[in-house]
Amino acid sequence: MPPSSKVAFISGGGSGIGRASALAFARLGHAVMIGDADAAAAAATAKEITEAGGSAAGVQVDVSDEGQVRDAVDATVSEFGRLDSAVNSAGIQGELGPAGECSTPNWELTLAVNLTGTFLCMREQIRVMLPQGAGSIVNISSNFGLVGKKGIPAYCASKHGVIGLTKSAALDYAAHGIRINTVCPGPTTTPMFDKIVEESGDRARTMLQEVESSVPMGRLGMADDIAAAVTWLCSDAASFVTGTAMPVDGGFVVG
Ligand code: NAD
Repeated sequence: MPPSSKVAFISGGGSGIGRASALAFARLGHAVMIGDADAAAAAATAKEITEAGGSAAGVQVDVSDEGQVRDAVDATVSEFGRLDSAVNSAGIQGELGPAGECSTPNWELTLAVNLTGTFLCMREQIRVMLPQGAGSIVNISSNFGLVGKKGIPAYCASKHGVIGLTKSAALDYAAHGIRINTVCPGPTTTPMFDKIVEESGDRARTMLQEVESSVPMGRLGMADDIAAAVTWLCSDAASFVTGTAMPVDGGFVVG
């Protein structure tokens, strides 16, 4: 593994897309701070990286808590000295059901984690990147941030919100060396996705087939497919890319 010169912070880095992104940044030689509400999961990803010869640490953070997010970003700078790339991947699906039956607690929790959590992380990351005059942030939205989906109104609203938030912030900081983009994954094999399939019980097999056939490329995404787009967006190869909402979904949103 090359020596660490750049630093990445990944929210939700204990699992799925966040974990794959953390490992991908580590392979590129970044030191990585893994933030997750699940402290053991954050520590496990950090251990995986350090055992492979990289630099990493884990920090417990609930992204919907302003103080915890500030502390986690400060911990990144204390530990590794700067912040070059940030990925805001922490997210929840929330409860399933039509908009007319969506409870206020479900609405508020889903928005608090997926949208406010992304905002709080991004605000603290910008605070560090601004004096550096450089940095790249990738917020993880969803294919359901670009198109509607029955039965997940709060999730859909939060993910559409992440794209609007990203576009506005990208314009605010375009002239300050900070690029801010969104990746919109399609259905991707991760613990979150596997749990949704499991919870469909007897329908699990049929549901999986339906999801696969809804993707024009005929397969689910892998967490590494999403991580590849994330690391590209944070790389110098994407130096003229900001404010975009990039689907990585096997053609789902154009199908
Ligand atoms: P995952 O459940 O495998 O990982 C999510 C991680 O976020 C977990 O480690 C969890 O502990 C953490 N987390 C949850 N709430 C948190 C909080 N309040 N504070 C800090 N950490 C918290 O899920 P995933 O599939 O890797 O999803 C990652 C992101 O990708 C999410 O934003 C999700 O909405 C989005 N996404 C996933 C898919 C998919 O099919 N898997 C599709 C589109 C978008």
